[in-house]
Amino acid sequence: MRKKEVKMDIQAKKLDTIVSFLQKKNAKIAFFVGAGISTNCGIPDFRSPETGLYSNLKKLNLPYPEAVFDIEYFRKKPKAFYTLADELFPGKFVPSKFHYFIKLCDDKGLLKRCYTQNIDTLERIAGVSDDKVLEAHGSFSANHCIDCNNEMIKETLREYMDKNEIPTCSRCKGYVKPDIVFFGESLPEKMWEYWEEDIDDVDLAIVAGTSLAVYPFASLPSEVSNKCKRILINREVCGDFESNPRKTDIILQNDCDSIAELLCEKLGWTKELEKLLEAGTLKIHSKKKFKSETATELSKEIAEEIAPDLEEEEQEEVEDKKMESRKKEDVDLDALTEGVHNIKIT
Ligand SMILES: [Zn+2]
Repeated sequence: MRKKEVKMDIQAKKLDTIVSFLQKKNAKIAFFVGAGISTNCGIPDFRSPETGLYSNLKKLNLPYPEAVFDIEYFRKKPKAFYTLADELFPGKFVPSKFHYFIKLCDDKGLLKRCYTQNIDTLERIAGVSDDKVLEAHGSFSANHCIDCNNEMIKETLREYMDKNEIPTCSRCKGYVKPDIVFFGESLPEKMWEYWEEDIDDVDLAIVAGTSLAVYPFASLPSEVSNKCKRILINREVCGDFESNPRKTDIILQNDCDSIAELLCEKLGWTKELEKLLEAGTLKIHSKKKFKSETATELSKEIAEEIAPDLEEEEQEEVEDKKMESRKKEDVDLDALTEGVHNIKIT
């Protein structure tokens, strides 16, 4: 056999093993997913230096790239986050094949939970049951005042954003932000409630589209019991799969959507997958506004809006932080990919 054929053969065997697990009655699957399952949806990839959000963020004269997700910076200059939020706001992206694969697992009664680091809510948009999705880094699904915690409904928040205004609390005039976990904020309590319930009650852990760089999320796949089979679908081998591999681990260094497609084919789910994808596309496109919203144009807009705001004092701080951020650029790239970085539990 030629090299390529051998490689294909190995992949086919791995897929068959996964399929046999998925065909077991009452199998319980947990997904642990990250930005990689959403990149095919057109959500800007923070990692790509050419078109990615990361390089655009660098042009914004933010004191440091993560400032956009920094609660203290948000208190002073909420505009940066809201300009970014406008690009990421749910409603204009169609879930990927992988999102629909998760939805199909749910429909077949196989899904125990889907832990996601993404804030795009595409799992919910794909139709995965509400109680099966846990957005570890929060999402746009609810919004609260950063001062008095008063809730603002999504529609009101959207109205503010459409008028290019910062959403403010009706009670205390504080800024309102979506429940996305910023630096210096704790992960949702619900996550630990679910995890306690799931940790010993999962047969198959599918880790997909994440470089497992952001803790504590990254440690979850290392905590599942030995009877649980672990699968990694990612371009690179990472996290616990690299540092502490288990004999039974299956690693597929592929695009998540291609694997979802192959698995559905082997499971006889292809028609259902296509139907879901078609309906999802139709739904989003009928809603889509005809607005020019490329990342490059957006970054120019933000830069123009924010740059004059920076006071002299801050400019010095900016230079210092820029130096710092250059040094740890590689780490930042990974961290930004997952949306949030350095989250500590208190
Ligand atoms: Zn308030």
